[in-house]
Amino acid sequence: MIELRNIDKYYGSYHALRNVNLKINEGEFFSLLGPSGSGKTTLLRIIGGLEYADSGELLLDDQPLTDVPPEKRPTNMVFQSYAIFPHMSVEQNMAYGLLKQRLSKAEKAAIVSETLDKVGLSGLGKRGASELSGGQRQRVALARALILKPRILLLDEPLSALDKNLREEMQSELRSLQRDVGITFILVTHDQEEALSMSDRVAILLEGRVAQLGTPEEMYRRPVSRRVAEFFGTMNILSCRVLGTEGGLAQVEVAGLGRFKLPNANGTTVCAGIRPEQLSILEDDTPTQSREAAGEITGASFRGGLTHYELKLNGIDRLLKLSMRNTTDRRIRQTGETVRVGWTNESAYLMQEDQPFIPKEKT
Ligand code: ADP
Ligand code: MG
Repeated sequence: MIELRNIDKYYGSYHALRNVNLKINEGEFFSLLGPSGSGKTTLLRIIGGLEYADSGELLLDDQPLTDVPPEKRPTNMVFQSYAIFPHMSVEQNMAYGLLKQRLSKAEKAAIVSETLDKVGLSGLGKRGASELSGGQRQRVALARALILKPRILLLDEPLSALDKNLREEMQSELRSLQRDVGITFILVTHDQEEALSMSDRVAILLEGRVAQLGTPEEMYRRPVSRRVAEFFGTMNILSCRVLGTEGGLAQVEVAGLGRFKLPNANGTTVCAGIRPEQLSILEDDTPTQSREAAGEITGASFRGGLTHYELKLNGIDRLLKLSMRNTTDRRIRQTGETVRVGWTNESAYLMQEDQPFIPKEKT
């Protein structure tokens, strides 16, 4: 539906977007994820027509969109700061979005009340916008953006000003709202859990480049590079050496953990990654395994359902992160305890070691 081809954007001599290529499908919940300054807002504004690319193409249904002014695009934007008018009522705020439509009073009232229902604000139409909580204000902003029934809703960190509990509640509401209205949502966020839990697909932006594109599960399970892996969850990174390949799998010697047979050895420089939940502390009565090593717990952080451990494994110079589910029969280990740590061939992934960064252009 929306396609970006070879998009480059400079601010002066600063290269903010570098050859961005993306296709976003109709009805998709798509997230642009990346650290602050990675170019997410710039990309979103280019899609909305509030910013122009220096080169490249923007297409909607295979037709060029680049020269279409923002108000003629089937897009609407929701910002982080609630861009609503505090001196107006909820209804007036919403009707503002309908100002240019030739509709009767009754038609407007019907659309306003229908949209308020959708965002869970039924009955609050007469309330002054300044009397609303942060979450309710953001719902008004959302309702106003939806009222014109855009095909694409662009959301720039819409939840980042909310506290954690409210944010999580709004995340699931936003997700079900999107399913309900069926329009394409493009969400900008720097919060990987938010992207992970809400999106059909995610593009990770690092320094103006799309570092990886895929479903949350693909990104988490098969990160292509070390930086993607570290940005998208916690990953133990270990140096490794490819000894050879056989039947499409690489024979790999991973520092401290021995040999693995792993897919994805493309690229010249590789390292191995192991997610904390892919390592486990073996119970004392577990028979000796071929893949285990002794380690010492150097830190334990109880998180209710899980405990996050840090440990020193014999033969590995850096500390490893390991997390275990706190099942009823499992003892929580203490700092200083010696434990047996086990893993399987499937615990590790091969990733490209990131290339050194290209220095920023002088400004
Ligand atoms: P993000 O939304 O991922 O935090 P932005 O798209 O806002 O990133 O910005 C990307 C980079 O471009 C940042 O380094 C930012 O400082 C720079 N930038 C953004 N807008 C402008 C502007 N109008 N003029 C100059 N530099 C800008
Ligand atoms: Mg931004």
